[in-house]
This record gives sequence, C-alpha cells and structure tokens, in this order.
Amino acid sequence: MSLTSTFDVAIVGCGPVGALAACLLGRAGLSVVVLEQERVHYPLPRAVHLDHEMVRLFQSAGLADRIVPDMVDTDGHLHVGARGQAIRYMGTVGLARPFGWSNDWFFYQPELEAHLRAGFAAMPNVSLRLGAEFAGVTQDETQVTLRYSQDGADHGVTARWLIACDGSRSPVRKALDIALDDLGFEEPWLVVDAHVDGPVAFPPIAGVPPEADLQRLSVMMCDPARPATVVPGRGQHRRWELMLLPGEDDAAMSAPEAVAELVRPWIGEVPHTVIRSATYRFHGLVAHRWQAGRVFLAGDAAHQTPPFFGQGMCHGLRDVANLAWKMAAVVHEGADPAILDTYQAERDPHVRAVIGAAVAAGRYICELDAERAAARDAEMVARAAAQTGTHQTAADLIPPIGAGMILAGSTGAGERFVQPVLGCGRKLDDCAGQGWRLFARGAVPGAAAVTTIDIDTIDDGGALAQWLNDRGAPAVLVRPDHYVFGTGMPAALIAARAASLGLVAEAAA
Ligand SMILES: Cc1cc2nc3c(=O)[nH]c(=O)nc-3n(C[C@H](O)[C@H](O)[C@H](O)COP(=O)(O)OP(=O)(O)OC[C@H]3O[C@@H](n4cnc5c(N)ncnc54)[C@H](O)[C@@H]3O)c2cc1C
Repeated sequence: MSLTSTFDVAIVGCGPVGALAACLLGRAGLSVVVLEQERVHYPLPRAVHLDHEMVRLFQSAGLADRIVPDMVDTDGHLHVGARGQAIRYMGTVGLARPFGWSNDWFFYQPELEAHLRAGFAAMPNVSLRLGAEFAGVTQDETQVTLRYSQDGADHGVTARWLIACDGSRSPVRKALDIALDDLGFEEPWLVVDAHVDGPVAFPPIAGVPPEADLQRLSVMMCDPARPATVVPGRGQHRRWELMLLPGEDDAAMSAPEAVAELVRPWIGEVPHTVIRSATYRFHGLVAHRWQAGRVFLAGDAAHQTPPFFGQGMCHGLRDVANLAWKMAAVVHEGADPAILDTYQAERDPHVRAVIGAAVAAGRYICELDAERAAARDAEMVARAAAQTGTHQTAADLIPPIGAGMILAGSTGAGERFVQPVLGCGRKLDDCAGQGWRLFARGAVPGAAAVTTIDIDTIDDGGALAQWLNDRGAPAVLVRPDHYVFGTGMPAALIAARAASLGLVAEAAA
C-alpha cells in the first residue's frame, strides 16, 4: 500500500455534503483530500428543495452567484385534505426575508453537485480522487489513516480528521460499528421526475389564500386514496412523490405505463418527458454516535429523514458548515481540538427536532383510512382557524442550537442571525465578512479573529438595531456558520469566545 502525504481533513464521499465540506474547508485554507468511489457524480435528481440557510452557506463559500441562477425560489408548502380543502398552509408570500434570501428554493441536484465540485476544483489545497473506494480506517492520538482502492491498487492517506460523507449506506459508519436510531417511520413512495412543457393542473382546492400561486408551492395532497406531493422544480423540471399503497409492487409501479397513468391527472396532454421513476423507503434514522475519535459522520451517513419538508440534504450541509469552522479554528487559531466534541451536541438535537416534524407530518400525510383522514382534516382546519395571526412557515420548523459553543443564558444564543440587505443592494455577509462578527452600537475595540462592526455605520434600515432591541442586548457575537454565539457586552463576548475555543491566553487578556 502506498501512503501519500498527510492532510488536515480527509473526506469520504463527494455527494453534495462532501462537496460543500471540501469548498468550505478549502476556502478556509485547510489541506483536504476527497475520496469518491464513482468517476462521475450521480446524474439524476434526488433532493429538489433547499432553504435560505443553504443559500447563505453557498454565499459563504463564494458560490451563490454560480448556483442561484440555476435555482428557482418558491412560496412554501400547502397541505390539502381528502376533500380538496387546504388543511395546512405554510406560505411565504408577502413575508419578510430576515435571512437575506427567500425561504424555499428548488434546484436540479446534478447541476448543484457540479457547481459544488467546481467550487473547489481550482483550489490547490483540495485534492479530489475519483474512483477511490474507501476500504478501512484506523486512528491514533494524532491522525487517521485511511485505506482505499483505486485503479486496482491499494492506497493509503493520513489526515488529522476524517469526515464521512458517504451516504445512507456509509461504509465508514459500518466500519466503526455505529448503530442507527430508528425514529419509527417507514413508508414506500414512488418518485417521478419529468420535464414538463407547461403548468401542472390541480383540482379545485378550497381555502387557498388569494395570494398563493399553486405553481409556486410544494403541494401535498393528503388524499387517503393516494397521498402525493406535487413539487415545482427549476425550469421545466417537475417532481411527483406518490405513496405506494399496501400490496403494490415497486417494479410494476415504476414501469413507464404505470407512471404515465399516475401523472396523467396532473399534466393531461401537456408535452412532457419522464426522466426517471424510482421507489424509495422514506424513514427517520439518526446515528447513535456522530463522532468516533477523529472521525465524524455527516449528511446521510449520520441521519436520514422523510423528505416532507425537503430537509435531508440541508441537514448534511449544516453538519459540514458546523465542522468546517471548528476545524479551521483548531488549525489556524490554535483552538482546543476538544471544541469538535460539541459537533454532535449541537447537531443531533437540531436534526432530531426537524426529523420529528417531518415524521409527524408523514404520519398524517400517509393516512389511508378515509374516516380517520376526514377527522384529521376537520381537526387541522379548526387548528388553523384558531391560529389566525400566527402563521407558521417551514423556516419556523428549524430550531435554534440549544447547547454547545454558544453563550448559554444570553438572549438569542443559538439563533440563526439575520442578514439584512443593505442600502447599496449588497447583503450583510458580503460586507461584514464570513468569520466571527461582533455587531454593537458605537465603536468597539477590535479583537483577534473577530470583525467588529458598529451598526450605526451600516445602512440596513435599522434591522440590526431592531434585532438587538428585541433581545435587550447591547451587542451580539455571530459564529462563522451564522448562528448567534451570544449577546451581551462586547468585551465579555470576546472573552467568552476565547474561553469557549480554549484560547487560554486570549481569554485571560
Ligand atoms: C426522493 C428523495 C427526495 C429528497 N428530497 C430532498 C429535498 O428536497 N431536500 C433535501 O434537502 N434533501 C432531500 N433528500 C435527501 C437528499 O437527497 C440526501 O440527504 C442527500 O443527497 C445526501 O447527501 P450526502 O452527500 O450525505 O450523500 P450522497 O448524496 O448519498 O453521497 C454519498 C457519496 O459517497 C460516495 N461513497 C459511498 N461509499 C463510498 C466509498 N466506499 N468510497 C468512496 N465514496 C463512497 C457515493 O458514491 C456518493 O457520491 C431527498 C432524498 C430522496 C431519496
């Protein structure tokens, strides 16, 4: 076995999660090797939806200008009951965009993956090895050693850390003997992707708010005869996800004639080309352990979710954003490597909360009993009527970080920080930078590795002052992944940051 040079980070798997990890780590100046068993990235779409936080991460990686033109932003989610009435509306039309981007975006996964790979292709510190199949990992106090096969030969590579982004079957997770928690949901669905030359036809739906445009919503038909999601895509791409009924055979239902029959009500004679149909088992699974020493699981290797709110890949992108800045802090700032032990503490409850919401939605969406579906509809309509004025969007399903590298007890800690669009038309992060940022009223002393910003010098229409006022805080310190570290007095925040990174001298200064 030939052992090649050592890297800061080895990544196994170059799906969307591994590719974003390579972009963020490479941009942070770390040396990275990516091992991917396939020669070309997967050519068909799986994920279709992502949210504003992902677009902000693309922005952080310098990729928003490349990716955004190939996506379409839409207006949220609508769930429709058995008799064709709206039972849950999570639309965003006319609502503020506190994070600088629309909440819901649709994309074509092969395009996104190509953009993410292009994002690190020119980085001399990132090496992508295609056709490289992971074969095993060992580790000691200083490094991991990976074995892999490529072109019929055995190879090895060493790195400080390994991030396993090798998907739901994760050979790395299996090699480490890490079990998955089953969150108790398993339903078979047929996924159909098509290029459609015209609008999708919907049956009449009662109770849809006048501002809602069905062509711009992800519409979940909770019809006990066959639950189905109709998903807008970018350009002419449209997605149907159709539940398989008890006794239906996967192969028979994904055959072209059966698929044509299933999508006919939605497109009639509109010219279209089905580009693929495949069956999946939608389930909720979370790894017991996300870390084994120097090895971290991320993306589908760590968790899988029913895709009812389009969050599976989003979780994975959040995972690697969380790891990337912490690894960079250890390498560049001399932070205590133990900060990486906060990874699971921060990400696991977050992921379980969102998977819990998807599983709860899945339980009522997949109701096949007509009477129980009618009772569900009545209850949900009544609940929606009682909640007038507290309209929930999909963004509200994503909780703050509850524990880890945040200043516990300070208001706003763990929230995603806002990103106002400034008077000049640029977004806040493009002006304030991507690292640690301290926003305060008035001039504040600088600190190593923290950008300090006097909010009175920012033409943001008062958005940041409003954020601070709402939390009764004089200043806020924001982490590189855009989550709030904490609020309080500037000097105290700077000291708390240093202490939480284990920078003893700085914390004492
Ligand atoms: C029908 C469906 C709809 C979905 N819709 C959405 C949605 O709308 N929004 C959303 O956010 N998510 C959605 N998801 C989930 C999303 O597709 C996944 O979460 C996402 O693709 C996972 O990315 P990943 O990079 O973790 O894994 P993958 O994309 O599976 O990538 C893993 C990579 O690891 C490589 N690999 C595996 N084994 C090895 C090995 N031994 N050596 C080297 N390389 C290896 C593989 O070749 C692959 O390239 C959906 C999923 C499905 C099935």
